[in-house]
Amino acid sequence: MGERVLEADCASCVGLCCVAPAFVKSSDFAITKPAGQPCPNLGADFRCGIHERLAESGFPGCVVFDCFGAGQRISRETFGIGQDWQSAPEMLGLLPVVRQLHELMWLLTEALKLAAAVRVHPKLRAELARIDHLAGGTPAQLKGLDVDAERRKVNPLLQQASNLARAGTPKADYRGANLIGRKMRGAALNGASFRGALLIGADLRGADLRRADFTGADLRGADLRGADLTGALFLSRSQLRAAVTDT
Ligand code: SF4
Repeated sequence: MGERVLEADCASCVGLCCVAPAFVKSSDFAITKPAGQPCPNLGADFRCGIHERLAESGFPGCVVFDCFGAGQRISRETFGIGQDWQSAPEMLGLLPVVRQLHELMWLLTEALKLAAAVRVHPKLRAELARIDHLAGGTPAQLKGLDVDAERRKVNPLLQQASNLARAGTPKADYRGANLIGRKMRGAALNGASFRGALLIGADLRGADLRRADFTGADLRGADLRGADLTGALFLSRSQLRAAVTDT
């Protein structure tokens, strides 16, 4: 498999994430719109008209969203140049499917960067190729795919890689924990697992988060200023964009 870009390239997409999902007016989105209806800020050229001022315009949810490259794959490969959600509306239903597959591919790619997990690298590479093949399916194949089942197949391997990478740390277990607004300033959390945890608005300033696992953690508004994230695992750019950081 060639090197696949696993982050959004909006210039190569037809604005699928601005049409496919429903929005509910909230702190993330300034408007309510049903699924399948284009956001009024989406131009005829499939570009966002307020891209440079999303957060201040009341759309911070758009800033933190990442399709992991699913949008451009559907636009350019599953369908093809010249097609869009008006000529081929079935594109829209495929976005959540391919996005989840690409997220799995991103996690597998991250796991392959972990030197401590070298003994599971062959399995990780095989799973990466397998999921990439699934994501390259026809619209009918993608529509019929059980993505949750694929996730269940891949997760134990990712967990194994995480355990190997966190060996020798206290490995506190916060998987799936509700840590919304939790005050953990300066806490020793090196090697902790925050897999699937809700860390919305948590105070993690100055915390020791070395080699902590952030797979799928919700970090919206979490304060990470001054925290040590050296070797943090499965921490995506969109998670960091959602958090409060030093940069
Ligand atoms: S505000 Fe811009 S990025 Fe967000 S959904 Fe609308 S067009 Fe897309």
